[in-house]
Amino acid sequence: MTLTLIFHLTLHTLVPLVIALVFFRDQWQKAWLIMLATMLVDLDHLLADPIFAADRCSIGFHPLHTYTAITVYLLMTLWRPLRLVGIGLLIHMVVDASDCWRMAGFAGF
Ligand SMILES: [Zn+2]
Repeated sequence: MTLTLIFHLTLHTLVPLVIALVFFRDQWQKAWLIMLATMLVDLDHLLADPIFAADRCSIGFHPLHTYTAITVYLLMTLWRPLRLVGIGLLIHMVVDASDCWRMAGFAGF
């Protein structure tokens, strides 16, 4: 496993944890679990060939990582029962996008 992948997975885990602790303090474990479950969105990678490519930007490539899908995730945050799922998915997209920015040389790490 490359360092980049470990860093990526750490962000996918820690960012939702911080959001859960800060904004959903009374039920942070439940909030964190729901947001972690949104990692299942990466099941759409199974449709791709190869399934994992370290140098591929997943945003706009995989069906559940398109801008149309991201718009749906944004709308989900407006409706309370789906809010955490929407937030989890948006965090996921930002973390994935940060990989694209890094690959494009924007983030400088
Ligand atoms: Zn992803």
